[in-house]
Amino acid sequence: MNKIPMKNKIVEMDGDEMTRILWKMIKDELLLPFVELNTEYYDLGLPHRDETDDRVTYEAGEAIKKWRVGVKCATITPNAQRVEEYKLKEMWKSPNGTIRAILDGTVFRAPILLSCVKPAVRNWKKPITIARHAYGDVYKGTEYRVPEKGKAELVFTGENGASFRETVYEFECPGVLQGLYNKDSSIKSFARSCFQYAIDTKQDLWFATKDTISKQYDQTFKLIFQDIFDSEYKAKFDELGIEYFYTLIDDAVARVIRSEGGYIWACKNYDGDVMSDMVSTAFGSLAMMTSVLVSPEGCYEYEAAHGTVTRHYYRYLKGEETSTNPIATIFAWSGAIKKRGELDASPELTDFADKLESACLDTLESGVMTKDLAGLAEGVTPTVVNSLDFIKAIRAELEKKLG
Ligand code: NAP
Ligand code: MG
Repeated sequence: MNKIPMKNKIVEMDGDEMTRILWKMIKDELLLPFVELNTEYYDLGLPHRDETDDRVTYEAGEAIKKWRVGVKCATITPNAQRVEEYKLKEMWKSPNGTIRAILDGTVFRAPILLSCVKPAVRNWKKPITIARHAYGDVYKGTEYRVPEKGKAELVFTGENGASFRETVYEFECPGVLQGLYNKDSSIKSFARSCFQYAIDTKQDLWFATKDTISKQYDQTFKLIFQDIFDSEYKAKFDELGIEYFYTLIDDAVARVIRSEGGYIWACKNYDGDVMSDMVSTAFGSLAMMTSVLVSPEGCYEYEAAHGTVTRHYYRYLKGEETSTNPIATIFAWSGAIKKRGELDASPELTDFADKLESACLDTLESGVMTKDLAGLAEGVTPTVVNSLDFIKAIRAELEKKLG
């Protein structure tokens, strides 16, 4: 069989622990036999990040800007225990945070649906994609534990003379105080990423805040979204027959539960943090969740939503068999290959990625699955297999589809 050619490169970012083991299995069994894989390789495994003083992460981020498509394996974000375990020079920052800062993007997470795994919400029939703004608000806030009676004020001093001073509260007893901010530039790029992703995936976009109560802060989010929609995206939405819909956050949660899915739900930072865990759990499992970072310039970085599955890795190191679910990592690769195919006008690549995804779904629907899913499956008798046997079963399906 002739391998499918790949004109331009995909930025490949290797990672850590169990997902690094899966990464190699996926390449060996599902990609390299079929595709002339053309990647620029960056090893973001923790030992190599440490060796390069984390330069490799910055270089990978810049490479995504150049090639516009990247695929990333899960990586360890070091804490004190990891510094000890890996004898690190420093507690390096989260690679995802570093890359997000370079690309200035929004993270989109969507569940992968199976007919044999039913969502906890009965009427959900199609995926709900959460788009989370990953900058500012409570994550960059300043807090104060008020110790005694006294006056709290909000003060702004502008460079060109603008000024603002208002009493927040006259404390008659101890209490708590918090200052939050966001920036127009970040909200604008969040909005553009969401509108662009809605166009790319031909789905409606929902956005919700609490602008009735937060008359400046949340209102600004609402107005910026509406303004950018009207001036830059409305025509394209009309052409595709998709809709932009704004409502209040409490109305949105009620509508989400009643809906059948099939749209993108844009959330402010905190709402997205909370709602994405609720939505993904209600759909089944973190190992069945795709995740892509989209920058306003149209760069795409695909990854799994879960971590490096440390507990399984320690068992693997002891020579025990593990049944770790590789689906999210396979879909990170298929997502990147599909996007490369689209950008390079290479239908063969896009077709291969579609077939790889459908081979995964057919394998699962036949009942061959990893341990995490077996407990959720309905209507099939699950056959639980280890990671490599699972990947080999997917390969057999894929070979059938490729003829
Ligand atoms: P995790 O790797 O997502 O794993 C948590 C638990 O979820 C696992 O122990 C496992 O449960 C289950 N699980 C997750 N993915 C699975 C899969 N593919 N197949 C089967 N079960 C799966 O989270 P963590 O243990 O909190 O974090 C481990 C490391 O990952 C940390 O060093 C963290 O920094 C890093 N991390 C990286 C990313 C990223 O790169 N995007 C994201 C999150 C965390 P059972 O053990 O019960 O089977
Ligand atoms: Mg969270």
